[in-house]
Amino acid sequence: MRTSFIVANWKENKSNHEAAEFIRRLKQIMGDLKGAEVVICPAYVSIITAFDCTRDCNLKIGSQDVSVHEQGAYTGEVSALMLRDFCQYSIIGHSERRKHFQERNEIVNKKVQLAIKYGIRPILCIGEDAEQRKNGLTNELLFEQLQSCLENVGADMVREIVIAYEPVWAISHGDPNHRAATPDDAEKAHEFIRKTLARMYDSQTASMTRIIYGGSAKPENISSLLEKENIDGALVGTASLDPESFAEIIKASRQYPY
Ligand code: PEP
Repeated sequence: MRTSFIVANWKENKSNHEAAEFIRRLKQIMGDLKGAEVVICPAYVSIITAFDCTRDCNLKIGSQDVSVHEQGAYTGEVSALMLRDFCQYSIIGHSERRKHFQERNEIVNKKVQLAIKYGIRPILCIGEDAEQRKNGLTNELLFEQLQSCLENVGADMVREIVIAYEPVWAISHGDPNHRAATPDDAEKAHEFIRKTLARMYDSQTASMTRIIYGGSAKPENISSLLEKENIDGALVGTASLDPESFAEIIKASRQYPY
């Protein structure tokens, strides 16, 4: 049995000092964090600090993005080669990057391939927006995103990937009262994603691939989401900014090995 997989996406929040303080407090509450697989994704500037602070526990570090270029004259970019010394994971294709930085599936696919090439496991974000949901296009959109973002990614590689189903309409954007997808709705999408992976690869690959939910996950709803058969963990934004609430989520996740 594997443990649930919980990821903190801090977005553009926390100074270097605050990142270190958060990790200190989380370790104080949780001990060595055994029995949970937890990844913290700070801003680039705090990755090395976070890495240093987690040497004595099994917290893992991830980046919130990775450059689409291997190296070269791309001012401001950070490559997979640079990240691999500190990051085991990288969030790729987050809806905020798709929306604000025009990241298309094609770019996301290149990033996924580069991350894998350099030994970083992608947390690939997919999910429909409110309009697509209203028009009944959720499955169509998920299918298209999976096909395009995983182009040229073989079965041996896809097992390294975590798929994050993040319905855009459920993402809190900092509002702690925003509503998550219902566990039943989330489960339907996760089941569809797993079936699609089985069609694209094979059923063993599909069952081994972790599919996590993101969008207003918080201590109050985490158990009802994780108890669903196809929900293997959570990507957490707003509720990951406070060590107490993030610790509650990790504690709850320990009840749901999958
Ligand atoms: C996210 O944007 O990845 C996310 C899950 O955010 P939140 O938990 O705040 O909805």
